Amino acid sequence: MVNRTNDARVPLIGIDRHRIATDGHGVTTLVGFFGCPLRCKYCLNNQCHDKKRQWQRLSPQALYNEVKQDELYFLATGGGITFGGGEPCLQSRFIKAFREICGEAWNITVETSLYVPQSHLRRLLNVVNTYIVDIKDLNPHIYSEYTCLNIDLLNTNLEWLVHHVKPENIFVRVPSIPKFNTPIDAEKTVEKLKNMGIINIERFNYIIPKKEK
Ligand code: SF4
Repeated sequence: MVNRTNDARVPLIGIDRHRIATDGHGVTTLVGFFGCPLRCKYCLNNQCHDKKRQWQRLSPQALYNEVKQDELYFLATGGGITFGGGEPCLQSRFIKAFREICGEAWNITVETSLYVPQSHLRRLLNVVNTYIVDIKDLNPHIYSEYTCLNIDLLNTNLEWLVHHVKPENIFVRVPSIPKFNTPIDAEKTVEKLKNMGIINIERFNYIIPKKEK
């Protein structure tokens, strides 16, 4: 029987091999999907919104054929594929089909804003090993100012995630966002995350693209 999901091709903004100890365990290959629902003011991946460009389109099988050359590195280091973007969770069908092809031994990580219909997260349960969540700021006003979207969907999905995924598999990044939040705001976000049971929390500073300075 033909598996249509395995044949579906999605646009990718890039594939980056041989990444070590960044954005996932061990040696990873970063696969960036086109498309993101957010409009972050300091987005460093603005190409993921550029509909005019002709992006490379791959099926899960074609992607596997391209990235499997690094399988020995993945297996030796506990690494694998980190799906980013753009928003990878919007491509949950693709990632699930890819998992069925690559098997259980590879670590699959998503770098996500969690700003997706929850059906995508449900589909990815038991498919994804590690979640890296770029949370922005949990103050509703700061969040909407910075992303141009209402925070409610993020809150709902974050609650869902902490109830369905082991804490050791969730990593949340809390940025200091120049002109949008203060260190005190970021610390309040950290406190909220801790109260939810999240244990892996990283503070960092956003880099402002040159034209924004
Ligand atoms: S979530 Fe990431 S890719 Fe999407 S707009 Fe924000 S910075 Fe850009």
